[in-house]
Amino acid sequence: MTFVVYNSLTRTKQPFRSLEPGVVRMYNCGPTVYSRPHVGNYRAFLFADTLRRWLEYCGYRVEQVMNITDVGHLTDDGDEGEDKLEKQAKKDKLDPWEISRRVAQQFFADLAALGVRQAKVYPKASDHIPEMVEIIEGLIAKGHAYETGGNVYFDVSTFPEYGKLSGNRVEELEAGARIAVREDKRNPEDFALWKSDPAHIMKWATRFGPHGFPGWHIECSAMSRKHLGDRLDIHTGGEDNIFPHHECEIAQTESFTGQPFATYWMHSKFLQVDGGKMSKSLGNVYTLDDVAAKGYSARQLRFALVRGHYGSPLNFTWDALKDAASALEGLDDLVRRLRRASKGDGAAAPAEAGAELLDEARRTFEDGMNDDLNVSRALPGLFALRSAALEGRLGSAVAARALEFLAKANAVLGCIQVEDELLPADIEAQIAARQAARKAKDFKESDRIRDELLAKGIVLEDTPKGVVWRKK
Ligand code: AMP
Ligand code: ZN
Repeated sequence: MTFVVYNSLTRTKQPFRSLEPGVVRMYNCGPTVYSRPHVGNYRAFLFADTLRRWLEYCGYRVEQVMNITDVGHLTDDGDEGEDKLEKQAKKDKLDPWEISRRVAQQFFADLAALGVRQAKVYPKASDHIPEMVEIIEGLIAKGHAYETGGNVYFDVSTFPEYGKLSGNRVEELEAGARIAVREDKRNPEDFALWKSDPAHIMKWATRFGPHGFPGWHIECSAMSRKHLGDRLDIHTGGEDNIFPHHECEIAQTESFTGQPFATYWMHSKFLQVDGGKMSKSLGNVYTLDDVAAKGYSARQLRFALVRGHYGSPLNFTWDALKDAASALEGLDDLVRRLRRASKGDGAAAPAEAGAELLDEARRTFEDGMNDDLNVSRALPGLFALRSAALEGRLGSAVAARALEFLAKANAVLGCIQVEDELLPADIEAQIAARQAARKAKDFKESDRIRDELLAKGIVLEDTPKGVVWRKK
């Protein structure tokens, strides 16, 4: 069975085929670093991580890029409102650059704690101003954008396909546009590529004027192009990114390059609280610390967030987390039982007993994942193995093969404890802290943590696939 994905652009499930055989170029919209990402955000990022891991299971090399938005994301997600970072900076009486540095560091520590595989690069918007200016100049030269008083807008009327992702129609957008449409726009639905504002703190002098900052959408067009090229296989985000963010990215990039931008657009549904979106503006958010304070590890949270299908809304409740933790304990226990059974401990079953059951379990897992990453359809394969192991129906040779399969399945799920023993939670936390220190280039601190772990008999090794540990 081939991997089939739901493409938001065509609104159908399509077999996945990469532009270049064996390689997938994937761009994930990352966090806006004005405050620590909440577990809702992590649902979107863990979806991206699971997708990458499944593609790797299928044998692809994945070039993954996730951006950090540190400027230009306004409170209305469009051209109006305050810059989220500058608003937070005023509130906290801090420099926005300082906020972005702190939050990004926290974000990397959270990713490490959640066991997320590292992307090739995490580009920051503010580091890519020349790349944005290059695209904006190109769009002006081709007649897709216009300058007015230091602002530059994309002229939506020059891109007839505008609306193809979201299904929005320009006439409806016009009718729905607020009365107070900015007077300098040619059409109400035109959107900003560059904005002039002398009062902005994070600003740049460019040929458009002495004090300006980029629009949020052009950032992702520029960063994806810089790090992955003109064309992508997959572009992801949460469902709220579809419009205006991704619709505008498509208009800019395709007008600039004259080619299709991403082949597949994939969007995860919201994590909800009491039936509504978990969001900072609604004040109903939980962080990894809140989850830890309730006694749950990042590993248990990860399982709670990835065990459902990303295309269905998910409700965040403590009961759901408790349920996930207990299901995960069942899978940890499966590993321990298989390990014992593979050594023939107390086994009455012949060595090859349960061979068909193992094949069926693998099929269920792979078919579920191939069906648009449907983890909830894939997991019953693992739980069928658990029932068989509990009932002593697996022979030693099959148990050994089942262990290998489970390690592979866990390379996708990333949360079952497949190592010899559970790592004490404090060692897990130290490994995450060391990762965060390395990200922040605080090598003194990262070396200190490494030595401290060594004293406890834990050896860390940095591999291209991340940190692995072993007992001394
Ligand atoms: P932001 O930091 O607002 O730029 O959002 C980062 C990512 O998190 C985007 O892809 C959003 O779509 C996603 N996101 C925001 N809130 C939620 C939520 N409650 N559930 C799932 N994803 C979310
Ligand atoms: Zn983006």
